[in-house]
Amino acid sequence: MNTLKLAVQKSGRLSETSLKLIKECGITFQTRIAKLKAGAFNFPMEFLYLRDDDIPGYVADQVADVGIVGKNVLLEKNDELEIIKELGFSKCRLSIAVPKEFDYQGIESLNGLNIATSYPRILAKYLKQQDIDADIHEISGSVEIAPSIGLAQAVCDIVSTGSTLVSNGLVEVEVILNSEAVLVGPPDLAEPKRKILDQFLFRVNAVQAANNNKYILLNAPDQAITRIIQLLPGMRSPTIVPLAQKGWSSLHSVVKEDDFWEVIENLREAGAEGILVVPIEKMIL
Ligand code: ATP
Ligand code: ZN
Repeated sequence: MNTLKLAVQKSGRLSETSLKLIKECGITFQTRIAKLKAGAFNFPMEFLYLRDDDIPGYVADQVADVGIVGKNVLLEKNDELEIIKELGFSKCRLSIAVPKEFDYQGIESLNGLNIATSYPRILAKYLKQQDIDADIHEISGSVEIAPSIGLAQAVCDIVSTGSTLVSNGLVEVEVILNSEAVLVGPPDLAEPKRKILDQFLFRVNAVQAANNNKYILLNAPDQAITRIIQLLPGMRSPTIVPLAQKGWSSLHSVVKEDDFWEVIENLREAGAEGILVVPIEKMIL
């Protein structure tokens, strides 16, 4: 069939942002996700709404063609799928934490401990690499309470701000994995699905580039232009338009979100005035 079946999390921390990305790609669909399956209106794509843990398996079994899932879940569940693209949202890490009164001296302190986790495969691999001999106690939820109820002496769990750890009297001691949402698929996706995937990726790249950049407009005296051009490389080079007032120009360019404040400060020092910064909707490089 000529549609690309994309598995997304039905409800949870990945759902909303996954669907937002799809919308930003100009793909429209029925937003009520009471159903298991829905088709897009204007793109050859179908959505399967699943529990995140099931997504790697469904993609491996070709029930879905591709899926959006946390790298943590992918690595725990499946080795055969490929990361097609890192999506940059739902960032978190998989870490080992111990009770705050534990006298942690380094990774060797984990030897002989009982560690509770929902990620037994990733943890086992990590401990083996680090040459640590510890017991893994697999539990499916509320891992962070395991030490306080005497179920384990340490935990290996997802951390984002760390506030859950703190409120359970735990301290993060080792980061095993930095995770984010990823688009996953089989290494050998065949035509015509491959072509649909490429069209989708083209749009995802345009959305990501737009989200990572801002359009900037500013006024500057003509003698400051050479310096300002050095600060604003732009896509190719900035646009320069003369103002009605003699000796002044308006410059238009693109700046990276990450460098944004630093660039603005430098621009002001260089003599720029009336700086406007506007979001970019799509950016095709
Ligand atoms: P499901 O019901 O689908 O099995 P779940 O409860 O297992 O959902 P969620 O809590 O919704 O999973 O988390 C989904 C993914 O979001 C995680 O696997 C992880 O990649 C990411 N994630 C988890 N916690 C956070 C967090 N605090 N901040 C950002 N991303 C997170
Ligand atoms: Zn889950």
